[in-house]
Amino acid sequence: MTEVLLTRISEPEAWRIDRYKELGGYEALAKALKSMTPEEVAEEVKTSEIRGRGGAGFPTGVKWGFLPDVYPRYLVINADEGEPGTFKDRELIEFDPHQLVEGTIIAAYALKVNWSAIYIRGEMVLGAARLENAVRDAYGAGYLGKNILGTEFDLDIVVHRGAGAYICGEETALLSSLEGQRGEPRLKPPFPAVEGLYAKPTIVNNVETISAVPHIVNKGGAWYASLGTEKSRGTKIFSLSGHVNRPGNYEVELGTTFRSLIDDYGLGVRGGNKLKAVIPGGASSVWFVEEDLDTPLDFDAIAAAGSMLGSGAVIVMDETTCAVRAAARLVKFFSHESCGQCTPCREGCAWMYKILTRIEEGAGRSEDLDLLLSVGSGITPALKTEGRMAMSEVLPYTTICVLGPSAVTAMAAPLRLFREEFEEHIRLGACPKAAGTGITTQDRKASRG
Ligand code: SF4
Repeated sequence: MTEVLLTRISEPEAWRIDRYKELGGYEALAKALKSMTPEEVAEEVKTSEIRGRGGAGFPTGVKWGFLPDVYPRYLVINADEGEPGTFKDRELIEFDPHQLVEGTIIAAYALKVNWSAIYIRGEMVLGAARLENAVRDAYGAGYLGKNILGTEFDLDIVVHRGAGAYICGEETALLSSLEGQRGEPRLKPPFPAVEGLYAKPTIVNNVETISAVPHIVNKGGAWYASLGTEKSRGTKIFSLSGHVNRPGNYEVELGTTFRSLIDDYGLGVRGGNKLKAVIPGGASSVWFVEEDLDTPLDFDAIAAAGSMLGSGAVIVMDETTCAVRAAARLVKFFSHESCGQCTPCREGCAWMYKILTRIEEGAGRSEDLDLLLSVGSGITPALKTEGRMAMSEVLPYTTICVLGPSAVTAMAAPLRLFREEFEEHIRLGACPKAAGTGITTQDRKASRG
């Protein structure tokens, strides 16, 4: 394990400012503000080649370079972590909030920003409290406000709590919500770097990305770039969950394999069971199977294998998993979280969930599988009907944002990998996985709530 961002996680009370400083906290801020120009800080981040950790994997230094010479400009930290299976930002915020605050101040300095917001998911009650305390203590220590550390740099940070909508993790919906409007995605372009918060240039970065900035400043961009692989530099926190013996957040160098993550860190599949499938990068990603486990955990290798690294949520499913039920559960999530602006997403997600549910409940019809793929193709017209799915099939899409396409992936990836299992459900009028377990269709209906 190569821990950079998680080094302080197990230290007692590292969320307190005095403890954080004892452990080397705010040294990078002093270095940046007192001995580096904003351009030099931005150059170090560019040299590190860190790619955004929120899902898209776009190079952070390049993104920062898109800001036009327009002021005021803003830095917004996306802490609205809500992708099923993702829980890395929550741990970073709850146990090391000053790392994020310090990273935000340094990034704001590099970007010549004087106002920044951290948009935190409403359900993260402990995280929001600790983050608010961290910001308050940073003001008290002279790390925020006017003339920070005696320099001419001023910065205010506002912690803004969301109201629980997954879609507000989409950057343009987040900005709309921050402005006090409904949290609905906007068409891009214009991209936020050009026209973001209050129509001003805005950089939106993920918690994990910004938490890495103090380390990049302290040790240098070249040091960070020496970790990982040629095109996926540094370390990444993977949230490993599901049917493994030891789920948790593990920070590893990019390039480690899925097999190592599951076996060495997660101590293997529970109960010695066989692995059925892995969702490699959050609920929106195409599923992997056993033969994919030697794929390195890096942006390009996973894309070449047909899926995506996404937010780093690795969900393991063993042989007892019902693929139909898993697909229905994932699609239900997307259907529930659809903002409703686009008809293909609003209606299509709900239709897919209804069809999957009736198959799972034993009332499926022979034409349902083709119907599911047909509904999916209303959202992603390039969707194929046979063979393993690839992420490339969700482009183009007929919706404003990728939530609709994510639901298509959650339905089509398992359907095309395990079509026989879906067909067996329809043929038997019941779940073959439940046979002999005593679990009835009624039990499943009841557990769905
Ligand atoms: Fe809203 Fe869905 Fe359209 Fe995204 S795709 S804007 S969530 S309706």
